[in-house]
Amino acid sequence: MKRLSAAILVLLFLFACGCKAEVMHSAVDFVCDTVVTVNAYAPQETVDDAIRLMRDYERVLSKTVEGSDVWKLNHANGQPTEVNPETAELLRLSVEIASRSGGAFDVTVAPLSALWDFNAETPVLPDPDALADAAKRVDYRNIAIDGNTVTLKNGAEIDLGGVAKGYIADRVAAFLRERGVRSACINMGGNILVFGGKPNGAKWSIGVRDPNGTAADSEEVLSLSDGAVVTSGSYERGFDLDGVRYHHILDPKTGMPVQNGLASVTILCENSATADALSTACFVLGPTASGELLAAYGANAIFLCSDGTRIAVP
Ligand code: ADP
Ligand code: MG
Repeated sequence: MKRLSAAILVLLFLFACGCKAEVMHSAVDFVCDTVVTVNAYAPQETVDDAIRLMRDYERVLSKTVEGSDVWKLNHANGQPTEVNPETAELLRLSVEIASRSGGAFDVTVAPLSALWDFNAETPVLPDPDALADAAKRVDYRNIAIDGNTVTLKNGAEIDLGGVAKGYIADRVAAFLRERGVRSACINMGGNILVFGGKPNGAKWSIGVRDPNGTAADSEEVLSLSDGAVVTSGSYERGFDLDGVRYHHILDPKTGMPVQNGLASVTILCENSATADALSTACFVLGPTASGELLAAYGANAIFLCSDGTRIAVP
């Protein structure tokens, strides 16, 4: 009898825990220069810890935060610099995707991106000579990684803006899973990572923004239980001058915003860091040249053109 009551107690306890985990909690904040949201079937405290973790990673991976790994590397005058293991890991992935994309994605774009101010009240175009000069320092092969020691050669500087948010979302998902969370949706300014579906078996719904609409207008809605959906859009950061859209995704060879008729590229794949890098790479490459790269990572892409055309690859 005693054993039976003990068993009932254990079952009741497990049921109570289960019920508690069914409740979704959310947090919204501003991290990495963008609005971030965590929705998780987890206690509020865990969700708040997830946001804190995003902030911790921002302090390591931001180009502008003094003392971050990226800041240290960019101020090391080419000397070998010890970085956090996560930074080294992210740089290894960045170099791999740079190499596989033929340099379309290249985190050494920093000297070029530094010449553009997309938030300026009165936007101006950078001096063409300055762009040409800076472009000479852009080459992912200037990043040497040995364990956690990184050396930037030939005046290279890095900007992880094209991959960091995706990577952070992966780390946050890993953190939530370690805490025993089974269902969550992490959104870092359009870098979305979900896992576990919803406890009732439903999938997460993820809107792909209509490039010609507002942030609230979806072109289509994707449903998935697990995986990353990451969009790079020319509407994110940029300005219009004399009828031309100048935006934050740059051709590493010229330093000019990519003008190939694309308005956005959405990547679907397992891992969100990869999806983030691929969204930038495929924006630069365009749909025809992206096939091989996407296949190498088992990823799918939706290219939305400014004229309203939609191209799915593969
Ligand atoms: P978002 O920041 O809107 O998510 P992306 O993921 O496409 O957009 O990344 C764009 C950012 O990546 C830019 O703000 C810049 O910091 C950096 N960047 C721009 N062009 C490139 C490129 N060709 N390769 C790698 N990084 C880039
Ligand atoms: Mg990206």
